[in-house]
Amino acid sequence: MGMLVPTALAGKMLSAFRPSLGSLWGSLASLLFWLRAALWWPAEEKGCKQVAGEPQGSPEAKGEDSTVPTSVNYHFTRQCNYKCGFCFHTAKTSFVLPLEEAKKGLLLLKQAGMEKINFSGGEPFLQDRGEYLGKLVKFCKVELGLPSVSIVSNGSLIREKWFKDYGDYLDILAISCDSFNEHVNVLIGRGQGKKNHVEKLQKLNEWCKQYKVAFKINSVINRFNVDEDMREHIKALNPVRWKVFQCLLIEGENCGEDALREAERFVISEEEFEAFLERHKEVPCLVPESNQKMKDSYLILDEYMRFLNCTQGRKEPSKSILDVGVEQAIKFSGFDEKMFLKRGGKYVWSKEDMKLDW
Ligand code: SF4
Repeated sequence: MGMLVPTALAGKMLSAFRPSLGSLWGSLASLLFWLRAALWWPAEEKGCKQVAGEPQGSPEAKGEDSTVPTSVNYHFTRQCNYKCGFCFHTAKTSFVLPLEEAKKGLLLLKQAGMEKINFSGGEPFLQDRGEYLGKLVKFCKVELGLPSVSIVSNGSLIREKWFKDYGDYLDILAISCDSFNEHVNVLIGRGQGKKNHVEKLQKLNEWCKQYKVAFKINSVINRFNVDEDMREHIKALNPVRWKVFQCLLIEGENCGEDALREAERFVISEEEFEAFLERHKEVPCLVPESNQKMKDSYLILDEYMRFLNCTQGRKEPSKSILDVGVEQAIKFSGFDEKMFLKRGGKYVWSKEDMKLDW
């Protein structure tokens, strides 16, 4: 048990939480949390073999070949209120970790070098009407002091109250929107009776401005929207980034025998994807992502906090970081760090550093 905190470690923790961003109270809360974790949790449980206070994932601590989980996508739920035909993270379980367990895992990731966390799903606002997500967002910003906290959501369940309660702690909100034609959205599966996806997108854009959260749009280019011209709509919304993905097949998720979706009819060719990009090349915030770039360049954690390895075209889980620690689990992640950097995975991701006209 790590009952004593070495002086060097205490010094590092103090300097790590110097009040650079938040208030003095935020720094004190962070320090207390870290001290509590260092005093109470056994080293094995934290996956920490070193004692000198280096984050366990740092190159110094682990050797040059170790993977640092700089940017992590935590899909804490697979449940969703939409039924997109190409969905590649489907509702195969309804499991969600208890909040305290999820926080414990996030602390392990921070100790291993995480700088950015992205919460995703399923639909992350579905659990406890967004409260579960809000508490994790606040925890990551205030207690862990992460430079970047973001969310990917379909947007349909977000209420203004959520921004009032948690907007301060969120850097980026990415909303999925594949078409500005509501009929196409319904065809794709992004529709819920009378709710209009595009109108909600505009409302969310306004709330993001009002509550000072950077607004991002994600679009999956597929058979139904590949010929659409979205230039004027995107320019009018003016997101910080417009991430444009090529529809991807993942065995066991959206194709193959045990899959919950059959996405083959959504797939487009490389040439069709390139033609879409060419048509939209004047949009300055466009960040394209082909299947090649996308497949292995994300660190994905599932609802059990297992890294998902997509290198073989399906999602193979590692053991949970809560059972074996980050260092062991990440070895099975299949993460391609070079591709992560090549696709521009590391960018200005903290809202304090963005030159935004709020
Ligand atoms: S909104 Fe996202 S998680 Fe939900 S069904 Fe569509 S692609 Fe899947």
